[in-house]
Amino acid sequence: MGDASEVEHRTGNCETCGDGTCSAKAARDGESPEEHEKRIALRRRLCRIGRKVLVLSGKGGVGKSTVAVNLAAWLSMKGKSVGLLDVDIHGPSVPRMLGLRDVEILGCADGMLPVEYEDIAVMSIGFLLQNDKDAVIWRGPRKMAVIRQFLAEVVWGDRDFLIVDVPPGTGDEPLSVCQLIEDADGAVVVTTPQEVALGAVRRSITFCRELALPVIGVVENMSGFVCPKCGERTELFKSGGGERLAREMHVPFLGRIPLDPALTLAGDDGHPLVERLAESATARALQSVFKPILDLPRRP
Ligand code: ADP
Repeated sequence: MGDASEVEHRTGNCETCGDGTCSAKAARDGESPEEHEKRIALRRRLCRIGRKVLVLSGKGGVGKSTVAVNLAAWLSMKGKSVGLLDVDIHGPSVPRMLGLRDVEILGCADGMLPVEYEDIAVMSIGFLLQNDKDAVIWRGPRKMAVIRQFLAEVVWGDRDFLIVDVPPGTGDEPLSVCQLIEDADGAVVVTTPQEVALGAVRRSITFCRELALPVIGVVENMSGFVCPKCGERTELFKSGGGERLAREMHVPFLGRIPLDPALTLAGDDGHPLVERLAESATARALQSVFKPILDLPRRP
């Protein structure tokens, strides 16, 4: 657990809270009392968390969950109290990446209790899906309702950080997540060097801007391959595109993570690489990408 003195959370008790800037204080134009009540319930949970960081990607398979899981593990190794929330409704990979299979979610009077992985409080929509096909057959409104309920019902308690693995793309699902976590401190956008992914990441940055969500930075994943036998680095895909794109779009570039079979293995084995192979070059690349997040200022 992190040092409690570092947790700049509020109490979660709206009746005694003196934060006059809280957007949940008053109902919004056109908002029904029921909708307002739901928004207050969500705010009450999330305001006890110091920093909320959303991990986004323009498309699936670029390493978003890998970044989210390793970021949560590294922050926890740094003594922070961390929650990890996986709302990727079509590909919830956090349970596999943390070796949390056949987990039963326990409830309490206040909601659903997160599952513990080491000191990290973890909740994944994957824990609730009976099988992989569940979410695929849900229609849009059902998915949105599940995402909303899921976000509002997890009992996080007081945390320094909440890392959120958001569904890929810029459609309704990531939009709902970003709108519901309305005081998120920023987004980390994960991409790969290929042009197609870069087109998608450009849309992700525009998406953040439209939602007034600060972009913490772009991460270029699978950037070069270092042969585990001879150590030679090969540019499988043209690397450096993520950095160019970050410059072009005036957002920070957080760094490159190489394509490393050890990272795939760590994901399949259920232990984050930053934890298991903390001294490896790839773990160091991840740590350097994560450093600015450890020092992330609170959103004004
Ligand atoms: P996303 O969340 O964007 O769909 P994942 O994080 O689930 O992507 O990654 C997809 C697959 O690629 C996983 O099997 C993961 O272990 C692997 N992977 C991600 N990044 C790397 C990397 N840099 N080197 C090797 N394998 C990686």
